[in-house]
Amino acid sequence: MTKNFTALILASLLTLPLISCVTTQPRYIIDSDTYQATGKSERIKTIVLHYTVSDNERSIKLLTEGKVSAHYLILDHNDDKIYNLVPESERAWHAGDGSFAGRTILNDTSIGIEIVNAGIQPEYRGALRDGKLKYHPYEHFVAFDELQIKKVAQLVKDLTLKYDIAPKNIIGHSDLAPSRKIDPGAKFPWQQLYEQYGIGAWYDEADKRYFMAQVQVAVPTIAEIKNEFREYGYQINDTDVWDKPSRDVIYAFQLHFRPQNPTGVMDIETYAILKALNKKYAGTENFY
Ligand SMILES: [Zn+2]
Repeated sequence: MTKNFTALILASLLTLPLISCVTTQPRYIIDSDTYQATGKSERIKTIVLHYTVSDNERSIKLLTEGKVSAHYLILDHNDDKIYNLVPESERAWHAGDGSFAGRTILNDTSIGIEIVNAGIQPEYRGALRDGKLKYHPYEHFVAFDELQIKKVAQLVKDLTLKYDIAPKNIIGHSDLAPSRKIDPGAKFPWQQLYEQYGIGAWYDEADKRYFMAQVQVAVPTIAEIKNEFREYGYQINDTDVWDKPSRDVIYAFQLHFRPQNPTGVMDIETYAILKALNKKYAGTENFY
């Protein structure tokens, strides 16, 4: 009995090194040199700009400790810092439900930038009534600090070059979620970014004037106008009336492209700007 037991221990000791030798063999080798594909592109397609509706301290807390985040945070400190909270290779949780240019789940394919700004002035708040957005005029929004805009512009410029982002894919949170969000608001200077830094999309004035004249000749139907919104990238329903969700899209568009007079009501100038943008940027989005 004892002899057998000793033999068993000896046998298992002898087999041990054999087992460990087998497990150290690699399962496969990655060869990255022999074949290369041409069908590929950057994962990042869109830049989404936000305002925080909070001061510096609270914005930092909200974006670092909670369930919302952004890749970059721009405080209103008088310095040259931009805080990187999430690596660009990872998803930040900033976009939520929405769609733009046929893409949904924007968190997967976008870089989110949060700018510290109070949004609507305190005396005009209470934006959500019965769960519906209120269409604040330009004057209700709080202006951005010029240094913040300079930092945003330089960061967006670098990201645009790095990821080859199409001009119309540089958007506000409201552009992708018109019925939920109004940030970065009417005082975010999209036109200044386009003119001073060559960032994002903006229409040509001559085209706008042309299409304003055209509307007098042939009045477009609601369906035709909604198609123009879809062509630009907005998600809009196909009802034949300007119901609340449709007016939310008009308002989001006006916040971006006619910020001095955002009303949520379709008018000749809004339509002409939309047509001018589609003329200039048709087919320029990067679908792949
Ligand atoms: Zn936002």
